[in-house]
Amino acid sequence: MLTEEDITALEHDATLRPPVVSFYVNTDRGTPEGERYLGALRHLLQIADRTLRLRAPENGEQERALLHTVITPKLLAFLEEHVESLPTARSVALFTSVGGSQRDVPLRAFSLPRQLRSQVHVDERPYVRPLQFLLDQYERVAVLVADRNHARLFTLYLGEIEESAEWKGDAPPRHDQGGSSQKRFQAHVDDHIFHHIRAAVTDATARIRRLSTRRMILGGDDEARGLLRSELPDDLRALLVGEFSAAPHASLHELRERAMEIATRAESEDEAATIVHFRNALARHRRAVSGLSATLEAITERRALALLVKKGFHAAGAICPNCHALLPTRGLCPHCRAHLTPVEDVVAHALEHAAADNAQIEFVAESADLEALGNIGAILRY
Ligand SMILES: [Zn+2]
Repeated sequence: MLTEEDITALEHDATLRPPVVSFYVNTDRGTPEGERYLGALRHLLQIADRTLRLRAPENGEQERALLHTVITPKLLAFLEEHVESLPTARSVALFTSVGGSQRDVPLRAFSLPRQLRSQVHVDERPYVRPLQFLLDQYERVAVLVADRNHARLFTLYLGEIEESAEWKGDAPPRHDQGGSSQKRFQAHVDDHIFHHIRAAVTDATARIRRLSTRRMILGGDDEARGLLRSELPDDLRALLVGEFSAAPHASLHELRERAMEIATRAESEDEAATIVHFRNALARHRRAVSGLSATLEAITERRALALLVKKGFHAAGAICPNCHALLPTRGLCPHCRAHLTPVEDVVAHALEHAAADNAQIEFVAESADLEALGNIGAILRY
């Protein structure tokens, strides 16, 4: 499974010498595009070839020769084998470099459980934005489902559900005899249920704390959910974003659907809250900026606390090789007068800088507000 550490390692991978060619291929065979994934990759290779030719005519021939003789057969063979052996991969990300020698062409690949648009990017660094978007949209969610005799813990990650633990209780079945012996018996049963839930929560708590999860969902019948809620420690209760009614022995498919619905809603509520915060800060004329130029300036000055980017927004720009300033236009650096290096997507660089400064990154799927403000903005630290 893709992690934040994978993306950081990719960004700092020294074997990926510039120019780096980043491919995303939709391999979801439930879709017409995904069916033709090898054709899609061939098409992306043609685009990469054209980009290399236009980009740097002096090295272009050598880079393109590498692309045709080594990289093309290698990627086609890799993708075919990979997709055949892993039918659940709904898209594949591939990173390679045409800046090295024939003998040692690096290839980094990630199989992704979500569909991504097929695309190719040629740039100084790996183009990791679709990966960041996936991680941002699909944070790890813990799902704890229980009834009187059974409890299961799942994690929901990148839209897939994975089981991590299961507990069985030993409450005897309920009888319906009436009278005082029934009351005593019922108290005895309740005691078993309580201990079963308490043991499950104690073990689940340790497991959930080890995962870096920011959300949690409870499932089960009313009685079990009430017990789970009251047994959860405060730090986990603070992560709760919803509950659903389902039996712990329901199918993984059903549990996934129920949990996904809640997780998706929680994510869009978070997004909406960030936008409200952003708009309020903008209205106070101090703690926020909007539009490409002002946002790049804030990131260059390392003042961004949070960076908001409309999903899919990108823009050509430039980066200063001397002072690392990010700019929307080419030419000379306004800070140090060095010649700026043009980049295909300056937003990708802005995201890298923001991530390196521990700014929160929020990819906004749908927001007329953000679009009207230039598709990008930042909440500032000061
Ligand atoms: Zn500069």
